[in-house]
Amino acid sequence: MADPTANPEEIGSIEVDRKLCIGSASCVAIAPDVFELDKEGIAVVKNPNGADAKTIRDAAQSCPVNAIILKDKSGKQIYP
Ligand code: SF4
Repeated sequence: MADPTANPEEIGSIEVDRKLCIGSASCVAIAPDVFELDKEGIAVVKNPNGADAKTIRDAAQSCPVNAIILKDKSGKQIYP
């Protein structure tokens, strides 16, 4: 696993794996302008530019089931 702290500005995309998400909302607590829970209680990305890269990374790392997938600008997965 690459360490996203090495290049925290390199986040190109954010995805939530709906099959993994358990709706714990820790990502919403850390980055409420990026993530929200939908009607099914599953996290969705409402604004990928709603927080800086460090905050987005912190949110991804807070996810208890590693459902938040971060990719760099070339499409390479950088977390988890
Ligand atoms: S922290 Fe993970 S499990 Fe919790 S709502 Fe966000 S994506 Fe879903």
